[in-house]
Amino acid sequence: MNLTIIGTGYVGLVTGACFAERGNRVTCVDNDPAKLDVLRAGGVPIYEPGLERMVARNVDSGLLQFTDDVAAAVDGAQVVMIAVGTPPGEDGSADLTAVLAVARAIGAALTGYAVIVTKSTVPVGTADQVREAVQGALTRDVPFDVVSNPEFLKEGAAVEDFMRPDRVVVGTDSERARDVMSELYEPFSHVREKLIFMGIRESEMTKYAANAMLATKISFMNEIANLCERLGADVEAVRRGIGSDSRIGYSFIYPGIGYGGSCFPKDVKALVRTAKSVDFDAHVLNAVEARNELQKQRLVERIVEHFGDDLSGKTFGVWGLSFKPGTDDMREAPALVIIQGLTALGATVHAYDPVAMGEAKRDLQPLMDAGSVTLAAHQYDAAKGVDALILATEWNIFRQPDFDALKRLMAAPVIFDGRNQYNPERLRRRGFHYVGIGR
Ligand code: NAD
Repeated sequence: MNLTIIGTGYVGLVTGACFAERGNRVTCVDNDPAKLDVLRAGGVPIYEPGLERMVARNVDSGLLQFTDDVAAAVDGAQVVMIAVGTPPGEDGSADLTAVLAVARAIGAALTGYAVIVTKSTVPVGTADQVREAVQGALTRDVPFDVVSNPEFLKEGAAVEDFMRPDRVVVGTDSERARDVMSELYEPFSHVREKLIFMGIRESEMTKYAANAMLATKISFMNEIANLCERLGADVEAVRRGIGSDSRIGYSFIYPGIGYGGSCFPKDVKALVRTAKSVDFDAHVLNAVEARNELQKQRLVERIVEHFGDDLSGKTFGVWGLSFKPGTDDMREAPALVIIQGLTALGATVHAYDPVAMGEAKRDLQPLMDAGSVTLAAHQYDAAKGVDALILATEWNIFRQPDFDALKRLMAAPVIFDGRNQYNPERLRRRGFHYVGIGR
């Protein structure tokens, strides 16, 4: 199939590479010249396991190409996917500027029937706006369908998720588009049928409901963790106790320093805005967001309880900067909130992340210029001479460090474990002061 994807970010690039891998001819479009330079030179501008080799393989075979020319890419495509960003606007609603600009560009370039797919996460009703935008820009009488096909991949496991999806949700009211989408996703449904067809509004809502549910599990567990702290209970035992209930399950109930990333925070906010637009108070979603904002501050509060609120002269090591392991994505990363909180109280921070140092430099540059943050070359360098070490992202390499070496390197053996990775008893026996979340 001839497929065009507009927006070559996380979703667009993974989607493009995976469809090419299954034999489709894919053109990925982007309007960022720097990104296109990297891609055309055989590189991949993001860290995502397995992606670089997949992109290289399909560029070599001629199935995957990159361009900034929307018109040329749309001409002759059977499916055109919109995968540009939908960042939060000032009021928290999803900003559809890029989606609708792309829809108009597609309309202006359309020469034959195509299925136009919104893969970006967009609020209920957006497909109607996309249809109007395309229709308004047509230069000739061409039939087209607009389909909603939200993406559920996880950063850090994006290729695996795309190639072996739990399900593929397709919202459409057109038989013709349904046929095209069935054929496109057939190779991904080899073992069992993965496609779930539904109405367009339901499909748009499914994406928000999925992310909001996962964010709710996280905030709920963080709330329980905070209660445990005050009641003298260890939330880790409680987590195992409830996770073993098959109705609850173990995933997304890890207490920590709050959710971040490019999706949960903005999607929860956008759903709250959508609710407001129809005069509905989303009490649960509001609470999920409020708990998350507070949770990102929780470790700084614990640090202040330990050291007092004047941290000048104190130095902290931070392990992990990306919003979760497996990605270099720093968008809304809790580590940033912690670093900003500590430096605002006068502290100096030495930070290390195995893959996000490039991204971190961009976000932390002002603090680096001010001399309050340095990026360490090695995980143990970040611990040298520090008054405490903070675990912010649970990368594998931080899971079982050499605690004796750490103790020798640190000015004081104090660990704030934002991801409950370490055994408090064992650390105490080794002479560490240990603070986790909800324990
Ligand atoms: P991203 O910011 O990584 O990528 C967006 C890309 O679109 C960028 O490369 C940008 O240059 C390009 N772009 C913007 N305007 C353009 C235009 N007019 N023409 C051509 N290119 C343009 O975003 P992302 O993380 O890939 O997310 C894209 C969408 O998918 C969002 O709606 C997001 O919510 C959703 N989503 C993201 C994830 C994820 O894990 N990142 C998962 C599921 C869904």
